[in-house]
Amino acid sequence: MNSSITPKLNILKTETSRVKEVDFDNLVFGSTFTDHMFECDFKDGEWQNPTIRPYGNLSISPGAKVFHYGQAVFEGMKAYKDDDGRVWLFRPEANFERINKSAKRLAIPEFPRDIFFEALTTLVRMDKEWIQPGLGNSLYIRPFVMATQVGVSASPSDEYKFMILAAPAQAYYTGDVKVVIADHYSRAANGGVGAAKAAGNYGAQFYPTNLAREKGFHQIIWTDDSEHKYLEEAGTMNVFFRVNDTLITAPVSDRILDGVTRKSVIDIAKHNNIDVEVRPVLVSEIVEAAKDGSLKEIFGAGTAAVISPVSAIGHKENVYELTKPEDSYSARFKKDLMSIQHNITEDPFGWRFEV
Ligand code: PMP
Repeated sequence: MNSSITPKLNILKTETSRVKEVDFDNLVFGSTFTDHMFECDFKDGEWQNPTIRPYGNLSISPGAKVFHYGQAVFEGMKAYKDDDGRVWLFRPEANFERINKSAKRLAIPEFPRDIFFEALTTLVRMDKEWIQPGLGNSLYIRPFVMATQVGVSASPSDEYKFMILAAPAQAYYTGDVKVVIADHYSRAANGGVGAAKAAGNYGAQFYPTNLAREKGFHQIIWTDDSEHKYLEEAGTMNVFFRVNDTLITAPVSDRILDGVTRKSVIDIAKHNNIDVEVRPVLVSEIVEAAKDGSLKEIFGAGTAAVISPVSAIGHKENVYELTKPEDSYSARFKKDLMSIQHNITEDPFGWRFEV
């Protein structure tokens, strides 16, 4: 097969949909998958046999490199249904570009744009009965790639499997989120893989996050690995600080993921004439602002929860409580973003993509 010619997408439809069996009011995030999934294999130097088939288990050798060296990257994105039954994705191009950026960092071959978009839109159309209308409901979409070559030598795989799964998701209420500033563990380092959605980044966060939970916090605000002096990300979200009326967030770097929600929040804030500072954020300045009352809000931004307001922040032995201001930025950004995503308002930025 000539790699410049797009291979045809094979479609195998399920005979019996499971959609009627699903209790959409009691979904556990990301654990019920739709009727179909996409898979495509990289072999002999090219991506081949792109197929949508009924969701089901895989058969993979336990010697596959993904199990030994964690050579795997993923994405997270959502589709929404409006009240007219039209289905929309939010900035899918950004996720496509990011999975290939992540892949490159893990020595995984890039995935072709045309197969990605054909597979994504076909899968979402085939399983659109699984998307509930209503603000906050969505279809969470999980593209991922893993190394499938058999062999436990520590070298990049010659074979890969690219897949897309989809899982219906409900409005996500995080409630009161208490975060603690990291002063020992790190999630990313200069020159490392923090900017990639590499599977291992997430596995490595579980242990320090468990320790934080034992102390009564829900999440960790990650700091730079060398001195724990700068605030970088909150759990698996980008993090924003409002000091007086200025919105502050760290610039993306080797250590910080280029979040789609983050860049959308920055654009919405600027569009609303809010002062935005994208610059390194010192732990000391935020602690000072918490003490003198100028710290008005902290929130996380990410696809799963959209915007997640922080109610308290722990640093060393102290905990600083935050009361949501009446003119809350986080509430406003959440509403603006969700209204664009669900086709409720105009989309001055051109972010919506009809499926
Ligand atoms: N940072 C990390 C480490 C993440 O895993 C995510 C989730 N993808 C984000 C930030 C937020 O990114 P996005 O808005 O694209 O979901």
